[in-house]
Amino acid sequence: MNMKPKKIPMRMCLGCSEMKPKKELLRVVKSPEGEISLDFVGKKNGRGAYICRSTECYEKARKSRRFEKTFSCKIEESVYEVMADELRSETENS
Ligand SMILES: [Zn+2]
Repeated sequence: MNMKPKKIPMRMCLGCSEMKPKKELLRVVKSPEGEISLDFVGKKNGRGAYICRSTECYEKARKSRRFEKTFSCKIEESVYEVMADELRSETENS
């Protein structure tokens, strides 16, 4: 029999610090140019971090500056606002 259970890749949410299947999480990526953005398809180039698809976890990670720590860079408020808007419309539509 060749029915090994598939290993599910797990990642930690920067908001609630829970380990969850990568697929359920939203990727936040720092591009090689140093730009921070949300990666809804999971295909963007760069260093990634993960959060739950919820504004709650996003705000937690934002307030505790965990994105900055993870990417070791400063993130402008305007960048946070853009990501918050994107996340809001994403969670409303699904
Ligand atoms: Zn979370």
